Amino acid sequence: MNPLSSLAACQKLLSSRADGFAELASEALARAVALERGEQPIHAFLSLRDTAPCVGPEPSPGASWRAGGCLAGVPIAVKDNICTTDFPTTCGSRMLQGYVSPYSATAVRRLEAAGAWILGKTNLDEFGMGSSTEHSAYGPTRNPADRSRVPGGSSGGSAAAVAAGAVPAALGSSTGGSVRQPAALCGIVGLKPTYGRVSRYGLVAFASSLDHIGVLARSVRDAATVLEAIAGFDRRDATSQRRDPPRADRVSAAELAGRSIGIPGEYFGDELDDGVRAVMERTLGLLSRCGARITPVSLPSTELALACYYVIAPAEASSNLARYDGVRFGRRAPGVATLRELYGRSRGEGFGDEVKRRIVLGTHVLSAPRYEAFYVRALQLRRRVGDDIRRVLGEVDAIFAPTTPSPAFPLGSRCAAPTDMYRADLYTVAANLAGIPALSVPIGDVDGLPVGGQLMCGAWEEEKMCSIGAAIERLVGYDPPRARGVG
Ligand code: GLN
Repeated sequence: MNPLSSLAACQKLLSSRADGFAELASEALARAVALERGEQPIHAFLSLRDTAPCVGPEPSPGASWRAGGCLAGVPIAVKDNICTTDFPTTCGSRMLQGYVSPYSATAVRRLEAAGAWILGKTNLDEFGMGSSTEHSAYGPTRNPADRSRVPGGSSGGSAAAVAAGAVPAALGSSTGGSVRQPAALCGIVGLKPTYGRVSRYGLVAFASSLDHIGVLARSVRDAATVLEAIAGFDRRDATSQRRDPPRADRVSAAELAGRSIGIPGEYFGDELDDGVRAVMERTLGLLSRCGARITPVSLPSTELALACYYVIAPAEASSNLARYDGVRFGRRAPGVATLRELYGRSRGEGFGDEVKRRIVLGTHVLSAPRYEAFYVRALQLRRRVGDDIRRVLGEVDAIFAPTTPSPAFPLGSRCAAPTDMYRADLYTVAANLAGIPALSVPIGDVDGLPVGGQLMCGAWEEEKMCSIGAAIERLVGYDPPRARGVG
């Protein structure tokens, strides 16, 4: 059995041997390196520790492992838009090639305080902009379930690393779905917490009012354990809230009998793939057979949510990315003669096409003649999306729907028309716009391609959401990585 397949498996190895930590670390490293090899590499990582630490009375220099802590000795991967002092933080962009942050993100520091060992940094769509991890300046990540297909995005490297069994858990970030969506496409669990639950300090900003740090893991319980370690107030993030972290020991595969589960009709429209629909219907059958009350609900703003997201996110991105000018931040183009050329060439050469598209779009919707018609209108819609969800969540315990309209798509198939790519976020953006927690759990597959079911609960209800998620996980009994023999 792969000792990296769960936190419990890691802990078993760690406690069974004096040199368990060194063994676990080198196993993780060997598996991570293997993902970078071969004709069609998975390419989950952008940087890795160069050596596994040796174990002694004191961990070797550079090792973050300390005795004790709920993640003591556990290798964890971190998306490469989350700052770390031990590795570069490139955001998948040429703009930040080789950049090493002078500080680590609060979430990373908390992982390390809980004893975790950061194995490496994972690939992503440039600055988190994308749904497939094909928009990385360092090449695409492939889906471990089928290497001709995308792992989803933008946290595709983190999802692939977990699904392929190199680490039991990884940090990702979600602005519109980048934790749940790749989790669904790779057949693992993706947890996006309530906005303000996990500090964004050290998460490189894409769209600040929508950005969240989230967790990818192989089980709901493991995701909840990592969330507990990284959650909590941080005075360095002005939007961080004073709430106790949700407790993983309160997550139990709760009784589903009597729970009311709202099923939004809008998530089952024409764009839903037939295979995904069939897997969802089978899951709903299982839920109602064990006594859950399946209640049809309506979220009329679903279609508008995507349009609203693709105005607000680029608007904020255009402002956040203005700092990469080759002077204060970012790579400076060599051999420039004028200031104008310095800005133009540094940004022109540093950013990829998708990032440029967002900057142009964002600048457009914020420009004086367009501001009211696009940006202000999108803010009003955002309010409506949140109101719709809160109204429904006043009537049911959780909303349950597909995470994505389709399973993993072939590499390259949605690169020609950007709006095809954007539609992969149809079902995930609402939870980001509303700031509520959401969770994707693997519920089956379509011809071997994993399918995720998504739960959404009210703000700060992660414990309840994870308990329902754990119950669904147990009910469905589906473990795609194991089903594929990844271990
Ligand atoms: N796919 C969405 C986008 O391209 C969401 C990305 C994210 O959550 N970081 O903006």
